[in-house]
Amino acid sequence: MTGVFTDLPGQDAVVAQLRRAAAGAAALLAGQRTGGAMTHAWLFTGPPGSGRSVAARAFAAALLCDEGGCNECNSCRQVFAGTHADLLLIRPEGLSYGVKQTRDLVLRAAGKPTGGRWHVVLFEDADRCTEQAANALLKAIEEPAPRTVWLLCAPSAEDLVPTIRSRCRVVTLVVPSSDAVAQVLTDRDGIEPARALAAARAAQGHIGRARRLATDASAAKRRADVLRVPSAVTSLGPALTAAASLVRTAEEEAKAVTEELDEPEREALRRAFGEGSSGKGVAKAMRGMAGAMKDLEDRQKSRATRVKRDTLDQALLELALFYRDILMMQLGADTELANPESDLRKLASSSTPEATLRRLQAIMHCRELLTLNVAPLLAVEEMALSLAEG
Ligand SMILES: [Zn+2]
Repeated sequence: MTGVFTDLPGQDAVVAQLRRAAAGAAALLAGQRTGGAMTHAWLFTGPPGSGRSVAARAFAAALLCDEGGCNECNSCRQVFAGTHADLLLIRPEGLSYGVKQTRDLVLRAAGKPTGGRWHVVLFEDADRCTEQAANALLKAIEEPAPRTVWLLCAPSAEDLVPTIRSRCRVVTLVVPSSDAVAQVLTDRDGIEPARALAAARAAQGHIGRARRLATDASAAKRRADVLRVPSAVTSLGPALTAAASLVRTAEEEAKAVTEELDEPEREALRRAFGEGSSGKGVAKAMRGMAGAMKDLEDRQKSRATRVKRDTLDQALLELALFYRDILMMQLGADTELANPESDLRKLASSSTPEATLRRLQAIMHCRELLTLNVAPLLAVEEMALSLAEG
């Protein structure tokens, strides 16, 4: 199968829905009746890694392509590169998205599509809108410009205010099965099947993470570091050491992620201001650049905070998953385990289900403390001590 919808393993129902809608949209443009398959506001939901933004991006490509999403023409390529003139890509970098930004967005979205088809706004993490921002957004969705299509993404429909939610058609992505994810890793990335399946199980249906685990040695090493915690927390001293290393590992990973993003952004800004050129007005432009650079750096800093928090949370979820596997083993439940049985057996036999449950609670409590902005090391140390106690 070719076309823009190939990167959505295990999402057959969603793909069928979006194909029908894209065909309906094309019929609308041709002045034909469409039977209601197309509408102007969509909400893509699904757990992290299920591919909600991938699905939204593919749908945008299908709407903007003359062939309904061929994945080969200029328009399709520009959508995936994020450079299409009729596609507004919104990705909140900080923890929230404000009302001023939203008003600007609404104005820009109302413009006529240059390509003569649609003006598509793809708003990732729309749940990060502040309340006022959500109100500004609501107005735009209530009274849509005739050729504007809103694609909002959020973990679940409940993450958006009901007034917005009720005006959107909801597209629900499911967590793809480990087999479906492994298949993609094998078919497209040429990863050996057993390794692909192990990575897919460890990533619990998160395709991007599964691919990283299977291909990036440092990501796999960081995961191994996290999973050493359960057997390391035997008493006070080792528990504190494990806590420190858990926090450090998460910080290293977050740093690797943000550094990869930061420098190209600064570089693009410098180029936009014509750094290195000379002539009339250049000095003035340079002063403008200093302000823009400061803005960019503020946004990068706020993104770094978010990535750091998300990365540590990811590590804690991985740890929780490890104990969940142990619990399943202790209870003799018949579920797919995320971790290899050989890693779990010793801890499963040397503790009780009650102790495992208490440990799981300690991890969840730690995650809660982190959302309340407790210092990460403090929260993780407290957790590690509870893990050691059992
Ligand atoms: Zn195309």
